[in-house]
Amino acid sequence: MRDTAAGPRVLLKRLRELMAEPLDPQGRLDRIVHHIALNMVAEVCSLYVLRADSVLELYATEGLNPGSVHHAQLRLGQGLVGTIAASARALNLSEAQQHPAFAYLPETGEEIYNSFLGVPVLRAGRTLGVLVVQNRTKRQYREDEVEALETTAMVIAEMIAAGDLARLTRPGLELDLKRPASFTGLSFNDGIGLGHVVLHEPRIVVTNLFNEDSEEELRRLEASLNSLRLSIDDMLSRRDVAFEGEHRAVLEAYRMFANDRGWVRRLEEAVRNGLTAEAAVEKVQSDMRARMLHMTDPYLRERMSDFDDLANRLLRQLMGRSSDDIAAALPKDAIIVARSMGAAELLDYPRDKLRGLVLEDGAVTSHVVIVARAMGIPVAGQMKGAVSMSENGDPIIVDGDEGTIHLRPQADLEAAYAEKVRFRARRQELYRELRKKPSESRDGVKVELLMNAGLAVDLPQLAESGAAGIGLFRTELQFMVASTFPRAEAQERLYRDVLDAAQGRPVTFRTIDIGGDKVLPYFKNAVHEENPALGWRAVRLTLDRPGLLRTQIRALLRAAGGRELKIMLPMVTVLAEIAQAREIIDREVRHLSRFAHLLPTSLKLGAMIEVPSLLWQLDELMQAVDFVSVGSNDLFQFIMATDRGNTQLADRFDPLSVPFLRALKQIADAGQRNQTPVTLCGELAGRPLSAMALIGVGFRAISMSPAAIGPVKAMLRELPVGDLDAFISDNLAGHAANLPMRALLQGFADDRGIPL
Ligand code: PEP
Ligand code: MG
Repeated sequence: MRDTAAGPRVLLKRLRELMAEPLDPQGRLDRIVHHIALNMVAEVCSLYVLRADSVLELYATEGLNPGSVHHAQLRLGQGLVGTIAASARALNLSEAQQHPAFAYLPETGEEIYNSFLGVPVLRAGRTLGVLVVQNRTKRQYREDEVEALETTAMVIAEMIAAGDLARLTRPGLELDLKRPASFTGLSFNDGIGLGHVVLHEPRIVVTNLFNEDSEEELRRLEASLNSLRLSIDDMLSRRDVAFEGEHRAVLEAYRMFANDRGWVRRLEEAVRNGLTAEAAVEKVQSDMRARMLHMTDPYLRERMSDFDDLANRLLRQLMGRSSDDIAAALPKDAIIVARSMGAAELLDYPRDKLRGLVLEDGAVTSHVVIVARAMGIPVAGQMKGAVSMSENGDPIIVDGDEGTIHLRPQADLEAAYAEKVRFRARRQELYRELRKKPSESRDGVKVELLMNAGLAVDLPQLAESGAAGIGLFRTELQFMVASTFPRAEAQERLYRDVLDAAQGRPVTFRTIDIGGDKVLPYFKNAVHEENPALGWRAVRLTLDRPGLLRTQIRALLRAAGGRELKIMLPMVTVLAEIAQAREIIDREVRHLSRFAHLLPTSLKLGAMIEVPSLLWQLDELMQAVDFVSVGSNDLFQFIMATDRGNTQLADRFDPLSVPFLRALKQIADAGQRNQTPVTLCGELAGRPLSAMALIGVGFRAISMSPAAIGPVKAMLRELPVGDLDAFISDNLAGHAANLPMRALLQGFADDRGIPL
């Protein structure tokens, strides 16, 4: 039997020697095409490279007219070469001229050749060019010849990506690899980041392409495949994965693919052709990616991307690469580009080097986005195709305000964004100066500006923002980013750290608010809920699972020993829930004092107003608790019957409208009447205009994201509260105004030069 792998191995060996020789790029390319032609017994071998203007330019040829090099060109999609580039698929033709896409380039003199084999030059699924061999005789190229040419194309892809060919490019033209590209997706967190791409699950750069000994390399591949399979089995048997639907399904698919004969066969074939195991994985992965780009069926795309992930895992396995190495090699202005990512994985990156996050998938509520927001980095999501279009180290801009990214931006765009960033920095400087100034209006009314938090990463913001304390500590976030229920000790440690960081400033801990859109992957409701927002969530859930609540209360009481403790219940609907929770708290207090634990110096219990039922029992509520806080996100969703996560309805109804502001005013009035402190801690508090409206209806303490404190304080210090009171009474009480409340409030601010 003929050893079909001998040819490619000899060729790859020759190419390796050529790569090491001190040649100029054109000389090297000329030699490469010469050797390919020789090895494949072809009369012609040509390389076309894709330029940024979507033109494929002939860069080197053996056999065609040498004068046509850098002159012959085809548009993407034009001719056989253009078709290969556009489809990322090989064409193997015994009579090229009969093909409907054939386009004749007279300057090349190629009319005498009948058979044609062209393969795309791929890197990470992107087409960088096309490599062609041609013969006079009418022949169909064998499968192993196609394979060999594809393997060779991979070496050329590395040369292009390494920038070797850039010097051959005529002035004013650019290779496609360097083409600027912009993507529009969704804004997941405001802010602008300029920096350099770091591919999460980075495509490891395989530098060692050719193997010395195929048999040895096959053994390495086999060993790594085995450990890969074992690690997947391992993950599948983990307790936190074992019961879970989606995550488990993905891993099951991985397991299936890791044992997929076709995949393994193609890897082995590439190794037999002379590649190292790593290069083989990369080659097969690249073919797969290219196919993925042209696939429209979402199910198949998903399956293909599982293969892609799997290939990344296998690469890391082969190269023994740890996450520590990756962090050490991070640029100081890293913008992480990922298909999707876990919250804990983001926390593995050093914060001081992160400038932004780009996700192909994700949602505003995904955990990684919650954490990114807490870390204060701009996030743009739903950026389809961002991963395959990016290379590690590419310059990139993330515009979290608009939900766009700009890869390899042109100089003027970059300059415009750099100016934006400088402008923001100046404004931040201004806000920083306000930090020490009193938090009061122009006419001397004090308004307490507190911040919302939920993770240890939030704590430095307490000092940086100048917040008066933490008005809402969302304890469920610790539960949401963990893979199992956090133990009592871990909860206590976090609460203690929070109180330490607060240095005596007030902190309001909200008991875990899970359910609704806040799901814990390791804790699922056994009953399917048709309307989870109206379902078994927050205090309803914790009162039914008192063990959960007791553990948390105990952790809070212990962490706050010798200090003040404020606890707040989410989603209270009826007053009996407060009484029930109070009983559990009292029992824990008794328990701790029996064992002579240091107890908090004072303990205050509050309720969130999120369910409209409380609006008709405000006085009783105010008497039943030590304080209340309006959760305007939920209260608005329930009053307006509008899902807070539904983007289709996002701007349909306005919280700054008469009915909602009246409801808020009733709450503020009831607080005053009963001398019960009232705050508001939903998103409404974080925009200067709506914060102004809140002050107008009587709120004197509001809690918001730390980044909002500066702008809100700037507004407050210019605000004449006396005027605003009168203005609100006039417009909110009786007669219907001819303008919407938002416009009236905006006009009020504009007339008085109040910065919004
Ligand atoms: C709210 O509902 O306004 C609130 C502050 O709680 P969360 O956003 O965590 O539901
Ligand atoms: Mg809420």
